[in-house]
Amino acid sequence: MVRAAMRAPLAAAAAVAAAAVVGAAQSPSSAPAWLDAYREPASRLIGAALADTAAWTRLAELTDSFGHRLAGSRGLEDAIDWAIGEMSRDGLENVRGEKVMVPHWVRGRERAELVSPARHALVMLGLGNSVGTPPEGLEAEAVVVRSFEELDARGTALKGKIVVYNVPWTGYGPTVQYRSSGASRAAAYGAVAMLVRSVGQPGLRTPHTGALNYAPDQPRIPAAAIANEDAERLQRLQDRGQKLVVRLTMEARMLPDAESANVIGELVGRERPEEVVVLGCHLDSWDVGTGATDDGGGCIAAWEAVRLMKKLGLRPRRTVRAVLYTNEENGLRGGLAYRDQHRADLANHVLMIETDAGVFRPLGFGFSGNDSARATVKAVASLLAGIGASRIGASGGGADIGPSVQAGNVPSMSLDVDGALYFTIHHTEADTIDRIDPVDIARCVAALAVMGYVVADLPTRLGQ
Ligand SMILES: [Zn+2]
Repeated sequence: MVRAAMRAPLAAAAAVAAAAVVGAAQSPSSAPAWLDAYREPASRLIGAALADTAAWTRLAELTDSFGHRLAGSRGLEDAIDWAIGEMSRDGLENVRGEKVMVPHWVRGRERAELVSPARHALVMLGLGNSVGTPPEGLEAEAVVVRSFEELDARGTALKGKIVVYNVPWTGYGPTVQYRSSGASRAAAYGAVAMLVRSVGQPGLRTPHTGALNYAPDQPRIPAAAIANEDAERLQRLQDRGQKLVVRLTMEARMLPDAESANVIGELVGRERPEEVVVLGCHLDSWDVGTGATDDGGGCIAAWEAVRLMKKLGLRPRRTVRAVLYTNEENGLRGGLAYRDQHRADLANHVLMIETDAGVFRPLGFGFSGNDSARATVKAVASLLAGIGASRIGASGGGADIGPSVQAGNVPSMSLDVDGALYFTIHHTEADTIDRIDPVDIARCVAALAVMGYVVADLPTRLGQ
């Protein structure tokens, strides 16, 4: 799974992609007439994106230089300052940070251990926003459950116990609820701590962190994720009738809110500068790994797409704006602040695109909007057939753009990629640059650049 550094001759890939675009121009039987004007600029953007490894190199610099970028950390703020400086040097316009106050959760040292019937260290990661244990830790009988139904069936018998949710991965939606609400549901029966089997595809004894939400009406108990293998071992021991005793020590704590910022860089539109196409992503990450996939890669791709338009002299009619949101992971404060700070302008947001599923091989975009807009973006996406990214899915959006999309009823998109690896590395120490292929991220840049440029330049506003 770990990629060797540079592979495949990029120039050859660029030539193939460019030829594919030009080839499409010869038989555009069902394509709308307006699309022809965009074949040449699309070909140039794709060619420029695939011509070198600029995106991968910049992502390596971001992740190597600043490490993880959890909200409230020095690493995030240094990365924000760096991005503002580099975007300015790239010639992006109106480059700025827009102030956002963010939660400041600190993990501290942490440890979990099965004490009885045998001593085993449990491979764990505290959940984001969790409270800590007393300094000396807490030790209690642990009870493994496979579902909320089993939790409810055991009910008040769980008083004073550590509840362990051993719920196998069946996809993010059905599984993540145990991570996000499991602590409070266990606390409601008097549990003193919660451990959850990691929410992710099977890996190599790798715990996945992520945020939890405490219900306001329940006691806040410490909560951590453990590796799948450890959860299975606890299950087997319990199934054999053994009584489990676990010791958990976590220094986790929430500090006062810290100052952060959404980073913005633009290419100002030549005719209707007040109308905006947003290319969004989030610059913060969890405090494990270096957030290369979640979501440093999305940020570099969005930024690089705007840089290439500028470099090629492709200034669209409307403004294209890269927004590197802060604090998606444990607060969504960046997305909420953008909505509030730009509320008066949301009606001028033509399209918002979020890239937060990794910068693996792009397949196309998910799209949410009216039928007219859907027909238009389908036509635009046909320009990406040469790099295999022409698919338009039934719906699209993202956490960071969500508040603005909802408040302004803005058409929204997500970059869709080959997601085979995503939930193996999601929120783990394995989220590093090594999982990203330079050609894949270059293709993501190409897809974003073409979609962003063409929609921003359309003679008639998208959806009208
Ligand atoms: Zn993310």
